[in-house]
Amino acid sequence: MKEVSLLPRYDQSNGWHEILEPLAEASIVTGHLTCDYLVIGGGYSGLAATRRLAELDPSAAVVLVDGDRIGNNAAGRSSGFAIDHAHNLRAKGFADAKKAAQDAIAMNRAGLQWLEDSIIANKIDCQWVQEGKYHAAATSRGERMLTEFAQSLDAVEEDYTLLDSAACADVFGSTFYSRALHAPHSYLVQPAAMVRGLAVTMPDNVTVYENSMVTNVEFSDDTLGNHMVHTARGTVSAPVVVLATNGFTEGFGFLSKQLIPLITWGSMSRELTQEESDRIGGAPSYGIIAAHPAGTSVRRVTDPANRILVRNIFSFSKTSDFVSRKAWAAKTHRRSFDRRWPELSDVPFENSWGGALSLSRNGEPVFGELRRNVYGTVVHNGVGIARGTISGKLLAELIMGEDSELLRQMRAKGRPNNNLPLQDLGVRINARARRVIAGREE
Ligand SMILES: Cc1cc2nc3c(=O)[nH]c(=O)nc-3n(C[C@H](O)[C@H](O)[C@H](O)COP(=O)(O)OP(=O)(O)OC[C@H]3O[C@@H](n4cnc5c(N)ncnc54)[C@H](O)[C@@H]3O)c2cc1C
Repeated sequence: MKEVSLLPRYDQSNGWHEILEPLAEASIVTGHLTCDYLVIGGGYSGLAATRRLAELDPSAAVVLVDGDRIGNNAAGRSSGFAIDHAHNLRAKGFADAKKAAQDAIAMNRAGLQWLEDSIIANKIDCQWVQEGKYHAAATSRGERMLTEFAQSLDAVEEDYTLLDSAACADVFGSTFYSRALHAPHSYLVQPAAMVRGLAVTMPDNVTVYENSMVTNVEFSDDTLGNHMVHTARGTVSAPVVVLATNGFTEGFGFLSKQLIPLITWGSMSRELTQEESDRIGGAPSYGIIAAHPAGTSVRRVTDPANRILVRNIFSFSKTSDFVSRKAWAAKTHRRSFDRRWPELSDVPFENSWGGALSLSRNGEPVFGELRRNVYGTVVHNGVGIARGTISGKLLAELIMGEDSELLRQMRAKGRPNNNLPLQDLGVRINARARRVIAGREE
């Protein structure tokens, strides 16, 4: 029996989750359960894999187990940009490799379309809306990067519109930005509401267990044997296991030295009064991604509550410590917020939180069989809503022996390479350098 050596320990600070109605009591794994497919992890990947397995084999018993409440995980802590493009606008070769870029966009869009279909079919109230995303610059370096991004979009025949500083002020209610580019095809969403909604609208052959951390595993090597996982109060056995456990997958004994565990941080203001909202003006709802990838993302959310969210900083943490650096992150967020809306410097944050991201050095994903009948989907490169979803869905199709062009494309992707010696130090230095270069866009 192997002990799972890295476990997610989130606090109760995720603004998106905390502003929703309290959840009904969780079903917890107790006693011994058996099923045909066991999915561990209720983020975007695990929710998609679970739903698709159940759809493809309605006679199968599918169990989804999560260590926390679904909505308090990284998926529910994200900034809710459901993005079709590569997240990093400086991604090398974005425009050079036109076909590869267009395939990657089509792959993300397939994930978003499937998500939208599930949201509509199940009437999930999560403010899913196709408002697109703004990439906005506040420095001359940022403006240059926007120009390059526009050239990349031209090369792959993607639409966008450009905004000058006056148009930015009109939309954002802030004179901070000098230029912006609006790309219309992405969606915005209340991420915690979305993942909660996806979890409670699973097909009838799915059972979801939460607050059931998998602490030990016994993987079987027998061709027909069952794998067994242990939680505090029970066990689950299944012939097929899917690990949709983000960077925590390393704790299950896989991908050692291949994942780069990062935390990124968000803060959400308390609800603005009408008078505070009028002070800044601007559109009631939008999402901004900074022109520099180390800059600050912003969400203005009106429905159902009038709030502003900022997200920035990537910190390296092998132990996924979401607590001890929270005050430091909140202080940075305060500075970023005040730069954009000095008129609202008296509006406090109600919540600040960190969440897990896992990258690989070469940017390639984990997708497929990790050992006999144990499958994994990890590394979604900052666009987890789209890529986590499509990756989870396609993984279910792979397990079920389906075939499609998208699945072939996913299988043809490279795999993460090994981290370099002193990778941790390198990541920390890189994160620090990027913050310095992002300058005022942080
Ligand atoms: C602050 C922040 C902002 C972000 N903004 C965006 C954004 O705007 N758009 C976007 O696309 N992406 C965004 N991301 C990235 C996105 O959240 C992740 O890429 C995504 O959540 C990864 O999905 P996942 O399903 O792989 O993992 P997760 O969402 O982390 O889900 C993994 C699940 O596994 C469970 N788990 C792990 N170990 C165990 C265990 N031993 N036992 C039981 N359960 C276990 C966890 O509890 C968790 O629920 C953001 C991330 C953060 C932190």
